[in-house]
Amino acid sequence: MEFHIVNDLRLWYILNMNAYESTPEAEDEDRNVLAQRIDTLDSVVHNLQQTIEELRGRLQRKIDEPDQTLLAGNSPPSRDSLLEEQALPKDPIPREMQLAYEQDTSRYSKLVLPTPLSVCYAILDCCDRHCLHCMSASNERSDTGLPTSQVQSLFEIFKEAGVLRIDIVGGEPFLRDDLFTLLRYAAQLGLEVTVTTHGGLITESHAKTLASLGIIVQVSLDGPRAANDRLRGQGSFDAAIRGIRLLVSHSIPTRISCTIQQANFGVLGDMLKLAKEEHVKGIYVNPVCAQGRADLLRDDICLNREQEFALRQQVAEYSMQSTDNAKLLEMKKAGRAAVFISASGDYVSQGWAEEDCVRLGNVFTDSIREMWQRTNIDHAVHLMQYLQHPLVYK
Ligand code: SF4
Repeated sequence: MEFHIVNDLRLWYILNMNAYESTPEAEDEDRNVLAQRIDTLDSVVHNLQQTIEELRGRLQRKIDEPDQTLLAGNSPPSRDSLLEEQALPKDPIPREMQLAYEQDTSRYSKLVLPTPLSVCYAILDCCDRHCLHCMSASNERSDTGLPTSQVQSLFEIFKEAGVLRIDIVGGEPFLRDDLFTLLRYAAQLGLEVTVTTHGGLITESHAKTLASLGIIVQVSLDGPRAANDRLRGQGSFDAAIRGIRLLVSHSIPTRISCTIQQANFGVLGDMLKLAKEEHVKGIYVNPVCAQGRADLLRDDICLNREQEFALRQQVAEYSMQSTDNAKLLEMKKAGRAAVFISASGDYVSQGWAEEDCVRLGNVFTDSIREMWQRTNIDHAVHLMQYLQHPLVYK
């Protein structure tokens, strides 16, 4: 986005300069100032282009040469041995195990899952917002996603592989005209579904359908009005709150996803208060990951180690003030715990920063189970992330 801002500014200056040229009384001095500014902006554009090229190169190298340290010593076990060893019974996961996991995570540190329990699927990359920290670097021109029938095939592949839940993200999922066709299809297949949205496009009729399909919705909100709108755009707080109220009024399990970066560090107390007022059941706290646009500005946006540590302490502190109506969820753990499926079906073992994300294949051509076994994802943390959803809404 910064690149477009700079280009827009540059265009503005050029237009203004032309206007001066065509105005007889224009002062030479003013024209020189404008010319200098164009030069400065040209050099900023040039630097940004170089940075983008460098990042593209880094990403391509990651794609072409998966990090061998990730795969070292992690030769895939046979399917039979996995099934023999697996500590996890098939769906549904028993309540005792959920409780045991909460009480003693180390007990499951050697857990081996034969397949991911949930995948995070970017159903499109396109978005009508331009948040500076957008981890998918979305805008109006981004990928609008696969055609309906191919997304349905993708859901069938997930189901076949044993995936239990799809966490639909974007871009903005509600920009897809066929979203409800797809949600219905996933529900028919017996898949659990969550949708993450900025909330601003949700209508009364959407809320009714979401309720009938049993979809869990997560609305992105990064602080009270002023803090949120500074990061997500003017009016985005009110739009999200309208969406949240519609969801809550239809008894849809709704939670807030709050991404913490340097600019909104310290909003957790206000967010907990807001969640209680709006009857939202949970707040999922995520430190921003150095991905997408946040990667380009990582030094200005991402938390340093001390801040991350302080954030964990805040989460622990505010969790004590949580009630059944507004729980503060444990923040996302660093490390490789999530499977990300891109808009085109690429399977990415997702890490914390852009350089930790490894593309292992494409869901249409490669086996999900094999790709899952080729990564060193922490299965226990993955299990915890899967379980957090149902636990919150019980
Ligand atoms: S609303 Fe979400 S997807 Fe859209 S630009 Fe903001 S962070 Fe990105």
